[in-house]
Amino acid sequence: MSIAENVARIRREMDAAALAAGRNPREIQLCAATKMNDADAVRQAIAAGVDCCGENRVQELVRKRSQDAYRGAPVHFIGHLQTNKVRQVVGAVDLIQSVGSRKLLAAIDAEARKQRLVQNILLEINIAGEPGKTGFAPEEVLPLLEQIGNFPNICMKGLMAIPPIPQNPGDNLYFFQKISQISVDIKRKKYDNVTVDCLSMGMSADFSEAIRSGATMIRIGTAIFGPRNHT
Ligand SMILES: *Cc1c(COP(=O)(O)O)cnc(C)c1O
Repeated sequence: MSIAENVARIRREMDAAALAAGRNPREIQLCAATKMNDADAVRQAIAAGVDCCGENRVQELVRKRSQDAYRGAPVHFIGHLQTNKVRQVVGAVDLIQSVGSRKLLAAIDAEARKQRLVQNILLEINIAGEPGKTGFAPEEVLPLLEQIGNFPNICMKGLMAIPPIPQNPGDNLYFFQKISQISVDIKRKKYDNVTVDCLSMGMSADFSEAIRSGATMIRIGTAIFGPRNHT
């Protein structure tokens, strides 16, 4: 199937999942996870109407940007970001979704200050507590937000999570609901300069379950572009 057909099918499934959960389908954005797909594939996905593109690697971001691959769509960074590469990403993307440590948060804030801009970010939560995976532990989030004023060049827009790869679509429901609950807890506290309008969770194998649990953005690679050679 073509990229356009895949995007159309995913949109239908997104709408169905939203309506089944009593939600407005327009609340949910489709982010194309474009890693390892070339500029031409990215352009096809944008033409087919994805809401944004998510890139995992700084090198790929820089290369595809130089090829003008993202024209017409916002670009997000969704991969592991090393502090020594922050300079190439801050100000170059609309949203950094994968901010999973204080060290990275501080580095992004400092670079944004240098560039005289405010960088939009999501906090990445290691929701299943997987060792070796980046992300804040759920219990670290509220204490961190108490101190978010220390990072004036950061604007926190929400949460992102990458739960384990599911064996069955329902396997991650528990984790998706846990993320949703954290966002409710954050909203209740009303921190300055913090919103949780964006809940980025759900991938090719389980996006319907994520939408049922409150996702406002799903990140889809394989179901749009087909299988990658390796990940
Ligand atoms: C690759 C990737 C996705 C998409 O994964 P698929 O299973 O191919 O849909 C989503 N989020 C992140 C952070 C990724 O790296």
